[in-house]
Amino acid sequence: MSRIVALETSDIRFPTSLSLDGSDAMNPDPDYSAAYVIVRTDAEDGIEGHAFVFTIGRGNDVQVAGIDALAGHLVGREVEPLLDDMGGVFRELIGDSQLRWLGPEKGVMHMAIGAVINALWDIKAKRAGLPLWQLLSRMTPEEIVDLVDFRYLTNALTRDDALAILRAAEPGRADRERELRATGYPGYTTSPGWLGYSDDKLERLAREAMADGFTQIKLKVGADLDDDIRRFRKAREVCGPDFPIAIDANQRWEVSEAIAWVNALAEFHPAWIEEPTSPDDVLGHAEIARGVAPIRVATGEHAQNRVVFKQLLQAEAIQVMQIDAVRVAGVNENIANLLLAAKFGIPVCPHAGGVGLCEAVQHLSMFDFVAVSGSREGRMIEYVDHLHEHFVVPTDIRGGSYTAPITPGNGMEMKSASRAEYAWTGEHRTEGVHV
Ligand SMILES: [Mg+2]
Repeated sequence: MSRIVALETSDIRFPTSLSLDGSDAMNPDPDYSAAYVIVRTDAEDGIEGHAFVFTIGRGNDVQVAGIDALAGHLVGREVEPLLDDMGGVFRELIGDSQLRWLGPEKGVMHMAIGAVINALWDIKAKRAGLPLWQLLSRMTPEEIVDLVDFRYLTNALTRDDALAILRAAEPGRADRERELRATGYPGYTTSPGWLGYSDDKLERLAREAMADGFTQIKLKVGADLDDDIRRFRKAREVCGPDFPIAIDANQRWEVSEAIAWVNALAEFHPAWIEEPTSPDDVLGHAEIARGVAPIRVATGEHAQNRVVFKQLLQAEAIQVMQIDAVRVAGVNENIANLLLAAKFGIPVCPHAGGVGLCEAVQHLSMFDFVAVSGSREGRMIEYVDHLHEHFVVPTDIRGGSYTAPITPGNGMEMKSASRAEYAWTGEHRTEGVHV
């Protein structure tokens, strides 16, 4: 038996605003940041659980405080009973009645719970000697549904529905795992499309993306329609008529504005319109979906929990679902999200980028392919070529696809030197800045 001895948190911020990497219509100057947690135990194996919540700068300290507020639940507890009942840990943490008042199940506290849950999964996977995707993919359907809190879902997805989905995928698991190891999981890239980039940079990066084998690129839109038309036309010239190009408005528009704006770009055949309006406006997304069809609507990076995803699917408001590894309460809630998508037959194309999001979310897509949806058809993981060098196991992109990780853990462990170098002190250091 071993015990949890500490939840060690830190505020880590990268000065990405200096280069306009990550700039979009709503977030002109993000500093990619991590509210980072290490769960330490007294086990002799020396294994630590690493995870983080991604933020874009100011407020990262608030997020760290949220994680700190969970220490009382975990420090001093025996590790093994927690790891043996991850569904129970999830329900315990989201069920803290006083902390729950701050949400419920949304925002800073919910994401803090996600960090702690993900850190425990890191320990569990490292102890098993498996990358997270493989650990999850080798659990039985019964073990997997025990991880999920079906509360508030049962009018759309019951435990029996979930079991049926997982059992249907069971026979092909071994074949798909082999296929995944051989060919990876498709990626698409947002690198060419940041709003702060010049047309020349857009053109160069779009060419590079195609040459690198990515299956799609994405452009940020929504600040100025004339600019969007010019940039989309440029991208179409570079990529040709058939290459998928998605657009992302980062919540910029009113509902009617979204419909008009997207239709004004329809001649360039957007592969999807992402985050057209408020992430909480389920019915607004449904109206937009009807108003821009056959252009698909995608959202999810700010969907605060499984209930919002349920409604988006029930309302036929999205045709592409974009889970995020750290927006909801960790691996457990994202398994619920993957099962919901499978139930409704909607492809999951995760949000990634930021710092460490690619490293983290690839495990969920790979698990989905092996054990849930059983398909990579129409599915791909976002990729942005920033800040990977700070991770112990950086993403390995080959021919535009994510190579299946083989290192044990959840992929979220940041190098200790990077954590030290970018520990927030109240101002950016300019030395060693990656611009
Ligand atoms: Mg986006």
